[in-house]
Amino acid sequence: MHQVYLGLGTNLGDKEANLKAALEEIRKRVGEITSQSAFYASEPWGFESDNSFLNAVCCVCTNLSPEETLHTTQAIERTLGRLKKSVNGAYSDRIIDIDILLFDDLQINTPDLTIPHPQMWERDFVKIPLKEIAPDIAPKGKK
Ligand code: AMP
Repeated sequence: MHQVYLGLGTNLGDKEANLKAALEEIRKRVGEITSQSAFYASEPWGFESDNSFLNAVCCVCTNLSPEETLHTTQAIERTLGRLKKSVNGAYSDRIIDIDILLFDDLQINTPDLTIPHPQMWERDFVKIPLKEIAPDIAPKGKK
């Protein structure tokens, strides 16, 4: 079994319902959710928008590989109605975004997957909910 931390964000529609629906799909398709943060409001990061975000972090136990986890979270994004992906790093409003933050203590650098998620320690909307459910996790070398 692997321990995976996922970061979730939404800034369109009924945001609380979007996060709840995503968590339910994660439970069904990725694995048991062993801890889950509160929902945190945050301002858009990296782009301009009038729509604020609602974010959460959860920890999941899974038998999936990192690649299978990515394919599954992307399928969940599509199920919930996300059509557009970020293009060349340009962000836009989204119904749901699911990032793989940490996967056990693996370090992965492939064209499709970077783990730990490269910007996770720069983003309060990740750091604050992550600290709530995993206070001992710190960036490598800063423990
Ligand atoms: P976005 O449109 O912001 O959800 O970006 C998703 C893209 O980032 C996908 O094409 C993934 O292949 C890539 N990616 C790289 N590392 C990660 C990660 N740790 N979690 C989620 N997506 C990732």
